[in-house]
Amino acid sequence: MEVKTSLLDNMIGVGDMVLLEPLSEDSFIENLRNRFDHNEIYTYIGSVVISMNPYRALPIYTPEKVEEYRNRNFYELSPHIYALADEAYRSLRDQDKDQCILITGESGAGKTEASKLVMSYVAAVCGKGQEVNKVKEQLLQSNPVLEAFGNAKTVRNDNSSRFGKYMDIEFDFKGDPLGGVISNYLLEKSRVVKQPRGERNFHVFYQLLSGASDDTLKKLKLDRDFSKYNYLSLDSAAVIGLDDAANFRTVKNAMQIVGFMEDEVQSVLQLVAAVLKLGNIEFKPESRSNGTDESRIKDKNDLKEMCELLGIEQSVLERAFSYRTVEAKQEKVSTTLNVAQAYYARDALAKNLYSRLFSWLVTRINESIKAQTKARHKVMGVLDIYGFEIFEDCDNSFEQFIINYCNEKLQQIFIELTLREEQEEYVREGIEWTNIEYFNNAIICDLIENHQNGILAMLDEECLRPGTVTDETFLDKLNTICAGHKHFESRQSKNSKFLTDHSLPHNCFRIQHYAGKVLYRAEGFVDKNNDLLYRDMSQAMYKAKHSLIKQLFPEGNPAKVNLKRPPTAGFQFKASVGTLMRNLQTKNPNYIRCIKPNDKKASHIFTDTLVCHQVRYLGLMENVRVRRAGYAFRQAYEPCLERYKMLCKRTWPHWKGPAREGVEVLMADLQVPADDFSYGRSKIFIRNPRTLFSLEERRRQC
Ligand code: ADP
Ligand code: MG
Repeated sequence: MEVKTSLLDNMIGVGDMVLLEPLSEDSFIENLRNRFDHNEIYTYIGSVVISMNPYRALPIYTPEKVEEYRNRNFYELSPHIYALADEAYRSLRDQDKDQCILITGESGAGKTEASKLVMSYVAAVCGKGQEVNKVKEQLLQSNPVLEAFGNAKTVRNDNSSRFGKYMDIEFDFKGDPLGGVISNYLLEKSRVVKQPRGERNFHVFYQLLSGASDDTLKKLKLDRDFSKYNYLSLDSAAVIGLDDAANFRTVKNAMQIVGFMEDEVQSVLQLVAAVLKLGNIEFKPESRSNGTDESRIKDKNDLKEMCELLGIEQSVLERAFSYRTVEAKQEKVSTTLNVAQAYYARDALAKNLYSRLFSWLVTRINESIKAQTKARHKVMGVLDIYGFEIFEDCDNSFEQFIINYCNEKLQQIFIELTLREEQEEYVREGIEWTNIEYFNNAIICDLIENHQNGILAMLDEECLRPGTVTDETFLDKLNTICAGHKHFESRQSKNSKFLTDHSLPHNCFRIQHYAGKVLYRAEGFVDKNNDLLYRDMSQAMYKAKHSLIKQLFPEGNPAKVNLKRPPTAGFQFKASVGTLMRNLQTKNPNYIRCIKPNDKKASHIFTDTLVCHQVRYLGLMENVRVRRAGYAFRQAYEPCLERYKMLCKRTWPHWKGPAREGVEVLMADLQVPADDFSYGRSKIFIRNPRTLFSLEERRRQC
């Protein structure tokens, strides 16, 4: 058998960054660029795959490629996402180890595409037969459904996922797929009511208006013209390369395959239509005798149509737009809404309606795709979640804060699992443990999530406190309690001892994340965390005849008036991230780090500074260092002997004894310094990449 180590043969640049000499940020980026220029978009750091977005279709995902990578060892062929998928699948199947694939990177870096490539590779190599194929098809078709409702065109990505997704794919003991379970995280619901310039609302709105038949639109009381809807931004309604009408058919087809009934599909579309109608309800002020303004609905036609779609009595919803009932000491007090409050109530309803619909879709898909058997199964989890986010000019808000918190937690997992994996391999192989220095970001996680004085806890405390609560009072609280924390900075620190940086704006605070400093603007934190929907609104929704909408607003049930207020957005996110982390910790991790080469969505352009930022945020240099701090290279005895036996007369052409002894003879003969390698149970561990290069050099000269 000819054993190749393709990482070294005919390679553009260096296929594994661990072997890069000399190692510096510059050489790291130069190596990425060199490979990218030659269409080599994948590069390893040990077992981690770096993926550069090529922004064009490369012929590297063909069925032939799948065959090429199938059942081959990780380092045998040139770096590819299929190698990682294959490795993960085989250890799941053959060694009974649950796996997780962690995909990170900034928006547009290629995470979602990577997750789909992994899924399709696994689908191609696992099990066959009618039942199995049905399961595969359902798992794969859940993607277009969730993308229609959860993705949107943004400045950074024409198909940007606006939610985090984790999917467990379940397999039986043979490695055949049984089903799956999807979890979703923090849909960016603010997009429903307002989109940044140059961006769109969620795809489904445009798909429905472009792709539905005239008859369907008539039933939904919709007009095909985007410009009729307040909630749809117009400056970028049509996106080059996106065929909304064709995608609508794909989505409907996918819903059918996943198992949605026709009436469920109609129900879902009615809610989508209701959101559009809702956005068109407008208000005007009407002066009252006491000098205050009260809100009135301008034109009741949209309200009427929305009520017809959802089976709501018009007067009930109208009242919810005019009054707000507050219960105090078992007494109900109604106050009238002014125009601003009416708009607030309207948008809150639209956001809640849509995000609850999205969560319902996930639950419904899970009902269809979850494994039908209770038998113990093996699991491969795929996590496609927003990477670290930093906007310029203090434009970072609650969403970025939450996203970055999630990335801190993922970094924790990375540190814990990578180091643990190294450690375990050393123990398994009987190699002396080498201590590895690294920055542990637990201290930052604590700043955010500590249940007594963490930022999230203090935000919750503010949100639940009676009296006037504003973003300023929240910031004051942070300034009092966090001042002095090594990773927290603000200008107005209550304790003058900690007055840190005068260049900081007054309404901001800064966190030194593991990936860099981020300035957050306090504005909107309280409101977004509260995520307040007036009870009159949820009660109006609960009264609807439309069964789906009724189901989405259980707290509107008058029998449950004493329900505690729903948990805050931050609290919910912290809880779901906690669950996710505990889940990931039980699995063997596989990492894909996605990088975007330019911010023009263009092929062939590689912008050094942009790549450099991402290399830093992703902590890739640290990753290589950790990997090299121990042993840079390791290889099983057999392939090692095969490759280098030509360098020594005693092992060439045939070595009769065990491979390990052959390697020992080889190393002695080549006079490799003894402190530069160790013999493990099944592998040789080489400390210094140069040792490997010199072996390679001698091989070439043979
Ligand atoms: P992310 O999920 O990280 O925001 P996506 O996976 O949606 O990014 O990728 C953004 C776009 O980049 C895709 O719509 C596609 O056009 C392109 N792209 C990403 N990965 C690849 C790839 N491996 N091959 C070709 N194009 C890709
Ligand atoms: Mg995505």
